Amino acid sequence: MRILIISDIHANYVAFDTVLEHAKGQWDYVWCLGDVVGYGPAPNECVERLQQLPHLCLAGNHDWAALDRLDIRTFNPDARRAVEWTRETLTEANTRWLEALPTTFVIGQYTLVHASPREPIWEYILEPLVAALNFPHFETPYCFVGHTHQPVIYQMLSETGETEAHRPVYDEPILLNGHRLIVNPGSVGQPRDTDPRAAYAILDFEKGIFEHRRIEYNIAETQRQMRNAGLPERLIARLEHGW
Ligand code: ZN
Repeated sequence: MRILIISDIHANYVAFDTVLEHAKGQWDYVWCLGDVVGYGPAPNECVERLQQLPHLCLAGNHDWAALDRLDIRTFNPDARRAVEWTRETLTEANTRWLEALPTTFVIGQYTLVHASPREPIWEYILEPLVAALNFPHFETPYCFVGHTHQPVIYQMLSETGETEAHRPVYDEPILLNGHRLIVNPGSVGQPRDTDPRAAYAILDFEKGIFEHRRIEYNIAETQRQMRNAGLPERLIARLEHGW
């Protein structure tokens, strides 16, 4: 079975649709690592498109924020405004759907979470040291995470926890190598690695063959939708910088 791995769509329907079109015919099932909503202009459209696909979806911090499960005073003012807009915009049915999302899922050799194995909603794995501290918190060889919006592969090198980060190589399938890995496919709808293209990944579930991918999408169209919705200008501008 081939899996389309996506994360952090953030209500960017144009990016989501572009990824689905780009990966068309190359997957059988979707794993979505959370943050379907928040920041972007099309939360209902993104939730409803995902619902139509054979999928498994984890809960992210922005999904929880939209459900009023988090204290958003810790969010910056722009993010807070986007959360409030998202709460008002989501339909009742889509809110119920978000409420039912799990925080961790284990399937075969893979553990799935939004943020980190030890803090599935909150922790940012932005460096090898933090990845190293997380390896004891899952039992499968491989863990997929989102949340940082930066594609990367962390590999545990020894039982003492020594860990290194590998930058993604795009469009080149790699064989997961039996080492313990924490893998981030990057963000569909709001990349933060200075590359504004939408990020996603493809996994051959049985063979353990994994591939990072990037694809350009119509950023201007998402920005237009955000302006129409009255979302903060800083959130609109960041999409074209990939930050
Ligand atoms: Zn996110």
